[in-house]
Amino acid sequence: MPETIRAGILGATGAVGQRFVQALENHPWFEITCLAASEKSAGKKYAKAANWRLESKMPDLVTDMEIVPVDPKKVDADVVFSALPSSFAKTVEAEFAKEGFVVASNASAYRMEKDVPLVVPEVNADHLGLIDVQQDKRGWDGYIVTNPNCSTIIMVPTLKPLMQFGLESVHVATMQAVSGAGYDGVASMAILDNIIPYIGGEEEKMETEPLKLLGEFDGSEVIPADINISASCNRVPVMDGHTAAIWAKMTDNPTPEQVRQAFLNFNPNLGDLPTEPEQVLIVRDEQDRPQPRLDRNMGKGMSITVGRIREGIRYMAMGHNTVRGAAGASVLNAELLHKMGKL
Ligand code: NAP
Repeated sequence: MPETIRAGILGATGAVGQRFVQALENHPWFEITCLAASEKSAGKKYAKAANWRLESKMPDLVTDMEIVPVDPKKVDADVVFSALPSSFAKTVEAEFAKEGFVVASNASAYRMEKDVPLVVPEVNADHLGLIDVQQDKRGWDGYIVTNPNCSTIIMVPTLKPLMQFGLESVHVATMQAVSGAGYDGVASMAILDNIIPYIGGEEEKMETEPLKLLGEFDGSEVIPADINISASCNRVPVMDGHTAAIWAKMTDNPTPEQVRQAFLNFNPNLGDLPTEPEQVLIVRDEQDRPQPRLDRNMGKGMSITVGRIREGIRYMAMGHNTVRGAAGASVLNAELLHKMGKL
């Protein structure tokens, strides 16, 4: 392996930014060299600017680092992990890519742009071929790679092994954790003793992003998968871990046991990436699993647990929304880029 890769975090003080700090602490390939946030935080030490809310201790390495503004001229890094609000990410991520940075983004701003890869390494690593298309089209020295919405990423790795049975349509109802909205996102008075049957923009993302992820890259563009997806998204009083109840219709009409075996056999084998879990999909046969509190940390938060596979085909899927669904997803993408020699 070559020397350490310098990593910056944009939006380092926020909920996902803190998960990036946690994911990159002691990383064998990446070293945090820069933390960036808004003007309100710039100039302050990280320990002062970030209201650390994770269960682990704030890594010593970042406590005294000075926050810089989100400006390519102020950021010292080869790759930047973006945890910025989407509206701001639209302009700023392009500026970084233009200046030669590799941008691994969590934000939704570029996910559905035709020349920007939307990637889950175990599902569609070949879509990274779009990087060349993007650089040719935009004339950038760097590039942007994105990972999907936190609910989409819990569902799509379970749909990938079902493609072999002729996946036609999917109905999904989610039960999403409050951390998905950020610390100040949902008021405690609104969510305690309650379920909120609406999350702005979420159903649209769940109905469109999987079609790109499961689509075919033909060398110049991604042809979206021909699957009908209907989503209903709900916020529930769970801290971390998004759960999805999924109904999948397939032309081959597989039995629950065939589906179970397809999940068990799903082994994309990326070749020992540091953040890659041993098993992408963990199948639980108990009647009352998966459960967020018991299963969200499986595979250090990178595995997705499935269960209750029944005739129909109906099943449940659950995964950690700020690890597999956010920071862990971007770091895994960057690890793959490094392995491919693109970073
Ligand atoms: P958050 O807690 O509100 O954090 C936002 C971060 O961006 C903070 O570091 C903030 O810095 C910085 N920021 C905000 N406005 C800025 C500006 N104008 N200029 C520079 N920096 C600015 O949000 P989050 O929950 O971490 O989400 C971050 C992104 O990840 C969003 O695009 C979100 O949709 C996406 N995402 C979130 C999740 C999740 O589970 N939470 C999952 C997947 C994707 P200050 O502290 O200085 O204000």
